[in-house]
Amino acid sequence: MESPMLVPRLREFGTTIFAEMSALAVETNSINLGQGFPDTDGPPQILQAAVDAIGSGQNQYPPGPGVPALRQAVSRHQQRCYGLEYDPDSEVLVTAGATEAIAASLLACCDTGDEVVVFEPYYDSYTAAVAMAGATRRVVTLERNGTGWGFDPAALAGATGPRTRAIILNSPHNPTGHVFGPDELRAVAELATAHDLVVISDEVYEHLTFDGVHHVPIATLPGMRDRTITIGSAGKTFSVTGWKVGWACAPPQLLGPVRTVKQFLTYVNGAPFQPAVAAVLDDAENLAPRVELEAQRDLLCAGLTGLGFDVVVPQATYFATVDVGRDAVGFCRELPARAGVVAIPSSVFYDSGAGDRFVRFAFCKRPSVLEDAVSRIAASGLSGGRR
Ligand code: PMP
Ligand code: GLN
Repeated sequence: MESPMLVPRLREFGTTIFAEMSALAVETNSINLGQGFPDTDGPPQILQAAVDAIGSGQNQYPPGPGVPALRQAVSRHQQRCYGLEYDPDSEVLVTAGATEAIAASLLACCDTGDEVVVFEPYYDSYTAAVAMAGATRRVVTLERNGTGWGFDPAALAGATGPRTRAIILNSPHNPTGHVFGPDELRAVAELATAHDLVVISDEVYEHLTFDGVHHVPIATLPGMRDRTITIGSAGKTFSVTGWKVGWACAPPQLLGPVRTVKQFLTYVNGAPFQPAVAAVLDDAENLAPRVELEAQRDLLCAGLTGLGFDVVVPQATYFATVDVGRDAVGFCRELPARAGVVAIPSSVFYDSGAGDRFVRFAFCKRPSVLEDAVSRIAASGLSGGRR
């Protein structure tokens, strides 16, 4: 319910769609293919490392910027995976999930009336954090093109003006699963350079790519390290979304302001979880559930395609988009009662009407659960109309 106490600039943000849909899943005893969280635990070694950290007394406030072992591990990770050098002391900051890194970055670099470019569909916390900073969003639409997604560089240029401060890039992208290709990264980089923008690059799905597709951080493009805040998180890579251990990497002139803001958002978090992530980050590429997720993606996409749905097969992440051929919100409201399945209407991640028929299904669930979900949708009689 909207309260008059909420300041006008935040009134469009009520309860997040993820909380709303997860509550609906519980209420209707539905399979939850809405909120993106795995239904299996992360690798045993990371769980044991956290237990050990709790048992060995690492339970008080960690240092503000994060425990040194984790900052060093993040620095090694960026070097090993992408050839990016970050000094663990002055260029790496541990945050309360990627969410805090995003919010702190926006609060640090935006003033009232500034503008931030975001791609739609957008991750919901971007628009809320832009509004909290007193800034305004300018939206560029990712359109379906052939089997995937892309944007029109002219639209990107058109969204950028004299008040633009930053652009938020999210690749691999939630909710589409699109991995931005070299031309797209170059277009963003050229625009950011021409307008002297900060790039806030949300890379939380960096290790969850499929079909041999590789993630390329925009900070690796010529000149971009100096203007990019690269954001990562342990949640997706190690299937521990509730731990909320994230990080930001950037040169000192960008990271210093983010650190200043972060001090007054949470100060610190996750004392025993930080060393646990540090203990496994050197093995991130092997521990990330890439292979399992790819099989789960195939299972869900084939199942829904078999029911006549128009599925856009993702290159990465936890999510597949389906064009349900009708109003997505209406479809998602009916789905729990009729089929006992919950999904997310991607339309809520758009300012324009371009996503009105898109529904996001999460496939980060056990194969038996995905099979059950497809059977339930089949039995409900809801179909994509393509059969
Ligand atoms: N960015 C994107 C694109 C996400 O999907 C999520 C959801 N986990 C986040 C950020 C938030 O990450 P964290 O849980 O680490 O705050
Ligand atoms: N990132 C998760 C998703 O997209 C949701 C996290 C949240 O509930 N804020 O489903």
